[in-house]
Amino acid sequence: MKTRKELIDQALTSGTLPDLPQGHFIDGAFSAPAAGRSMESQDPGRAEAFAEFARGDAADVEAAVASARNAFEAVWRDTPAAERGRILSRAAALIRENAAGLAVVECLDSGKPIGEAEGDVQGAARAFEYYAGACDKLQGDTFPIGPDYLGYSQHEPVGVAAQIIPWNFPISTAARGIAPALAAGCAVVAKPAEQTPFTALRLAEILKNAGLPAGVCNVVTGTGAEVGAPLAAHPGVDHITFTGSVATGTAVMKAAAENVTRVVLELGGKSPVVVLDDCDRDQALDGVMGAIFENAGQICSAGSRLIVERGLHDGFVEELCRRAEKLTLGHGLRNPQLGPVNSAEQLTRVSGFIARARERGIEVATGGGETVDPETGKGWFFQPTIVGARDAGDELVQQEIFGPVLTVQTAEDAEHALTLANNSQYALVAGIYTGDFTRAHRLARRLDAGQVYINEYFAGGIEVPFGGNKKSGFGREKGLEGLLSYCRTKSVAARI
Ligand code: ADP
Repeated sequence: MKTRKELIDQALTSGTLPDLPQGHFIDGAFSAPAAGRSMESQDPGRAEAFAEFARGDAADVEAAVASARNAFEAVWRDTPAAERGRILSRAAALIRENAAGLAVVECLDSGKPIGEAEGDVQGAARAFEYYAGACDKLQGDTFPIGPDYLGYSQHEPVGVAAQIIPWNFPISTAARGIAPALAAGCAVVAKPAEQTPFTALRLAEILKNAGLPAGVCNVVTGTGAEVGAPLAAHPGVDHITFTGSVATGTAVMKAAAENVTRVVLELGGKSPVVVLDDCDRDQALDGVMGAIFENAGQICSAGSRLIVERGLHDGFVEELCRRAEKLTLGHGLRNPQLGPVNSAEQLTRVSGFIARARERGIEVATGGGETVDPETGKGWFFQPTIVGARDAGDELVQQEIFGPVLTVQTAEDAEHALTLANNSQYALVAGIYTGDFTRAHRLARRLDAGQVYINEYFAGGIEVPFGGNKKSGFGREKGLEGLLSYCRTKSVAARI
């Protein structure tokens, strides 16, 4: 096996990687798409194609759903829970063994800095480890329905679970959906984003090598219209976990409604980071920088709205600008502090927000322009950007930009900060920085968000349920609650 350095050097020199998975992964093996078509995946750090992959269609979805259904009914739902756990444990170990290779593929495909990709791969291993241990703890209840009766419940797997995965966290989103689905006894059909198809395919192969029976985890690659839509509309799918935009999530929910299929939707966010005067200033500065510039701001739970109390405001924003201007920028494989955005389309979208803001007379505090990797003159980069917003209705405050752009609002006090924070169509996560723990927990109680971070943005891991309110979606992933998404309760009542 090549070392991390060898893999990175090879990818930097050749611009690609050998042995990338070819085809879909259906019924335990790689297979060519029914229509024989392929499409290109781009390296965002160079703005150039680096590999081809299978462009699937409804016929491939059909084959994958049939394979999943068969494996579910014939093998997986009756595989003892402890055995399911052992397979997931081996998968976690294999992900760790293959971590360097997985991270380099993820870096090329998504553009993110290699250090971040490595963190995501470790996160994926953790998801399998966590749910491996949960397989044999899924227990039911008994009900006190009287001396002449016996009442109990058990968790059954829902069946075939579709995973529709976005491009910003390809392997970690795949893992956080596939691991609990398999733990519960479901079979899976996963559809990675067309921008980032490779690590989901690798994951399916790793699962097979860990002992997962053929057909229990299938991956079909291709576009949203050609693969995602037929998968969401398929009557043989019993559950859909979708992570992506509000518009696509709405389409998926409509398609699911036709078959009364269960959905978990993890959609957009415009998450506030509330920084109060009494906080530890350095801790808050570090937190806000990470909240918006990690993965170039392409995180549904990015802290993209800074709400800072007036007493701290000016010096705090000045220091943020200074730090933003110092961020190193470059190809993900060189592990910069800021990588490219994922696509030309995304770059245009981010630029559009700033261009329109300037037209409205809004001054950009720092950044605000498209740029390139200083080393190669290539890539889809956007400068780390900080911009103040006076009007709470402004699109910079209300719309998800999904790029390295922080919008700053000023709060008069904690109560005002709370009002500003909750004034959003989204409610995914929220951050609070304060030295007063009572105040922090009182605010946490009243913030409209699925998850609140206190004094460390993105605190917590796979153990903590994650998901949103309002247009950020519904249902929870991660934690034991995430496992229950893939279960249905059967109650049994008997006269004895
Ligand atoms: P973005 O607009 O940022 O690319 P999307 O929400 O459209 O985000 O994409 C998230 C995932 O949903 C991707 O895997 C994409 O291919 C898939 N997708 C896109 N359109 C549809 C659709 N109509 N039905 C199901 N999945 C879709």
